Amino acid sequence: MKLRRAPIESLTVDDLLFAVSWSRRRRTIGISVAREGGLRVLAPAGVPARKLESAVRAKLPWVRRKLAELDALGPPPPRPRFVAGERLPYLGRTYRLTLVDAAEMPGGPVALRRGRFELARGLDGEARGAFVRWYAEHARARLGARVAHFAPLVGATPAGVVVRDLGTRRWGVCDGRTRIVSFHWELVLQPPEIVDYVVVHELAHLHEPNHGPRFWRRVTVVMPDWKRRRAALSSRGHRHTI
Ligand SMILES: [Zn+2]
Repeated sequence: MKLRRAPIESLTVDDLLFAVSWSRRRRTIGISVAREGGLRVLAPAGVPARKLESAVRAKLPWVRRKLAELDALGPPPPRPRFVAGERLPYLGRTYRLTLVDAAEMPGGPVALRRGRFELARGLDGEARGAFVRWYAEHARARLGARVAHFAPLVGATPAGVVVRDLGTRRWGVCDGRTRIVSFHWELVLQPPEIVDYVVVHELAHLHEPNHGPRFWRRVTVVMPDWKRRRAALSSRGHRHTI
């Protein structure tokens, strides 16, 4: 009987350490570079370590370029503490936070009123959760409306629009099988023109799953200045993680 070695969990190529995630569903070797997630190799189950290493080596210039881009972004902003006077983002702007007695807030513990964010006093550790719920609720309304606006222009109507947490690397996902488009709730922290770019991008995926020339032609018809918007999105990164 042959002894099977356990699959490796990490891989060092030159001076770079990659965590290895094995997947039975993957067909191709992928690499991801994330500010918080670090370097990761996504590997189809059963690929030999030597093959993995040579695939990573071939992509090293790209990995180094990505790392330099992340360096240029600088460290992520400090997480908000939800104290009075702090500025919190919404649709590309920031609004000063004031604390209000819960009795004066019938609509819930978070509100955006007269150019200020209001937060019910005394929430302490629950403040972030209350804000995330507020953002997700507004993301649902905003993205639902923008999808309804752009769907006829792109010529593709999704079966549903979902807002959820998509982690630190993705703003939107299009499932070609269920035809459901999903968006990160954090998208509503970005300016409206960036929100719209992600909407058009995901709707175009209903026609074209890949980022080939046909995909970008579709995007261009609806949004000729998508390149500027995409550049703005990547330069902002996930800078407003709350
Ligand atoms: Zn895409």
